[in-house]
Amino acid sequence: MAVKLPIYMDYNATTPVDPRVLEAMLPYFTQMFGNAASRNHSFGWEAEAAVDKAREQVAALIGASEKEIIWTSGSTESNNLAIKGAADMYKDKGRHIITALHEHKAVLDPCKRLQKEGFDVTFLQPDRSGVITAAQVAEAIRPDTILISLMWANNEIGTINEIPGIGKICKEKDIIFHTDATQWVGKMPTDVEEAGIDLLSASAHKMYGPKGVGFLYVRRRKPRVRLTPLFDGGGHERGMRSGTLNVTGIVGMGAAAEICQREMAQESARIRAMRDRLETAILARLDATRVNGQVDRRLPQTSNISFAYVEGESLMMAIKEIAVSSGSACTSASLEPSYVLKSLGIGDDLAHSSLRFGLGRFTTDEEVDYAIESVVRGVSRLREMSPLYELAMEGIDPSTVEWGKH
Ligand SMILES: *Cc1c(COP(=O)(O)O)cnc(C)c1O
Repeated sequence: MAVKLPIYMDYNATTPVDPRVLEAMLPYFTQMFGNAASRNHSFGWEAEAAVDKAREQVAALIGASEKEIIWTSGSTESNNLAIKGAADMYKDKGRHIITALHEHKAVLDPCKRLQKEGFDVTFLQPDRSGVITAAQVAEAIRPDTILISLMWANNEIGTINEIPGIGKICKEKDIIFHTDATQWVGKMPTDVEEAGIDLLSASAHKMYGPKGVGFLYVRRRKPRVRLTPLFDGGGHERGMRSGTLNVTGIVGMGAAAEICQREMAQESARIRAMRDRLETAILARLDATRVNGQVDRRLPQTSNISFAYVEGESLMMAIKEIAVSSGSACTSASLEPSYVLKSLGIGDDLAHSSLRFGLGRFTTDEEVDYAIESVVRGVSRLREMSPLYELAMEGIDPSTVEWGKH
């Protein structure tokens, strides 16, 4: 069977809406278009019932109760609400916050904003395998620590932080624990109770739902977490997030959550097998190539590979029929190497020469085969033209040669 081009292998950036999700959403655009806050007629009740159902669906996916779900516009907003909202609410208890260098910008930037406002932020450095350990967190805690924000799994390298362990320490020390679980929820089993999580961010468009909708889980018992809202208005969502609810989007997120929960075990096994096949074949056929981040504890859909002596952007051009992301994708206008890879202690040259493959629900074996051939061909061709690769093959250490000066 011929493969349809281009091939999408950037599921960590976004996913297509599952057709079953779209079908669930459609009636809410035109027929059941009511405002979920309209209490006086059936249009409003219908919308409210749909939102309630979605609340149950996402709560079930993460082991929460439906009252603990606050709808937002996505993970960027959820992270901002969690971090700024908790910092403001608990600032009289202390002003120290802990996060990590390889967090998503939607966590780093709110923390940097708080730094400007007088909070003290510790940015933990992951180890070379890209993991933040519970021991590392324990060591960084101070008497004035009020909030710890650490992602469950990393979007660029797929590595998994020691989440149940970190949650346990936060509980013992009575510190609010937020996790950006955008890449985790819907792909891996999630239980906020077992993991000791107080605040959790997730986004629909990373789990086959629509863009522009997400939620923040806010714990209601042991402890009851309170947040200062980001905006003032009608007092929707227990006063934490005013604004008319995006009913269609929310219905989509609920449907997406239910499908993920039902199909997770099977789906992740299938995707993991494809990812492993892609990785094994590429590593076997190309020298000077390595996988970034802890290999054995990783999201099943993610593979981040460095190809020494080739430049990521050139490689992206060489395999342009495959949509992946390069080590500098997050600041795609610039050619800065990925700060995530750099935080692991990976040198600029290798960080520059890396690609992130994100596989997903609609990835096929044929697409994986095509990607393997394309990457092997592309890297080989670029290396044939690379003076650095030539030097390396002649036994000269190319790390003594400066990049970007040719
Ligand atoms: C995609 C992503 C975000 C941003 O989510 P949006 O819903 O697009 O705002 C935040 N954190 C992580 C880890 C992500 O992968």
